[in-house]
Amino acid sequence: MNTKTILIVDDTVANLDILAELLAEYDLIDTTSGVDALEIVNEEKVDLILLDIMMPEIGGFKVCERLKSNPYTKNIPVIFLTAKTDEESIEKAYEIGGSDYITKPFKPKELLARVKMQLDLQSLIQNLEYMSSYDSMTNIYNRRKFFELAEYRFINARDDLFAVMIDIDTFKNINDTYGHDTGDEVIKTITKIIQEMLPPKSIFGRLGGEEFAIVCNHKNQTELLSFIESIRKKINEISLDFNNKTIHFTISIGVAKYQEEFMMIDDLLKEADKLLYQAKETGRNKTIFRK
Ligand code: GH3
Ligand code: MG
Ligand code: MG
Repeated sequence: MNTKTILIVDDTVANLDILAELLAEYDLIDTTSGVDALEIVNEEKVDLILLDIMMPEIGGFKVCERLKSNPYTKNIPVIFLTAKTDEESIEKAYEIGGSDYITKPFKPKELLARVKMQLDLQSLIQNLEYMSSYDSMTNIYNRRKFFELAEYRFINARDDLFAVMIDIDTFKNINDTYGHDTGDEVIKTITKIIQEMLPPKSIFGRLGGEEFAIVCNHKNQTELLSFIESIRKKINEISLDFNNKTIHFTISIGVAKYQEEFMMIDDLLKEADKLLYQAKETGRNKTIFRK
């Protein structure tokens, strides 16, 4: 079994030392700063956070609130470990998404048991989260997860945001001619090619049958477009050998850039979808972009 990683956040170094000894069976990362903690969770895979409340700079409650408002970190369980014993603090801790609340001085065995309990629960949640976020055929984000992450990206970094809508051309023919299983292979092959060529930090999902979408930030529009075109060309060039038959396939693409009148991610995706429709209407196997 892979070892779980626990992030310990406490501004008192002596506390970190005690916890490091107690939790030695786990992989540990520790920090005395809430600000650092928020950076660490973006870079490392963290399974659980032990969080002090009273810290300079940014306190534990604020750290927890930030974690819970970010879809990438909201499912990491937070156990508050604090000298604060008043009821308001306990109430607040749970209100803002804390999973457990342990007061200092703590009983070592009890802390260990509660940590283990949260980690076990976390494993269950991670499995459920995986099943409800990924498309089982292609292993990329499903529609629900794609929209959740894309909306989050829109809220936080929309200025140079692009949406790319992709649809396999005359896919019904492929199914009708070669069978449904071959159709599935085509979907998997195309997914894999796109995934290997994606711009960094792209969100890539399967929205439906043979329809995909990418949301990504890019400073250079011309560069991004030639990138997207290279994906289309690559798919146009390859072929799939199936039951002694060679199958070719193509995709059509609509690309839209964020504009000020767009209020939410749906507006940007709808624009890309319109352009995809135009690509279909005007001959397929092409990319259409409008600023
Ligand atoms: P267009 O170029 O206009 O997009 O034509 P098309 O034939 O690709 O579009 P249409 O929407 O008419 O047909 C899509 C087909 O994709 C119909 C559906 O049965 C098939 N399909 C949807 N999901 C899957 C899947 O998971 N596997 C397979 N093999 N086929 C699928
Ligand atoms: Mg299609
Ligand atoms: Mg379609």
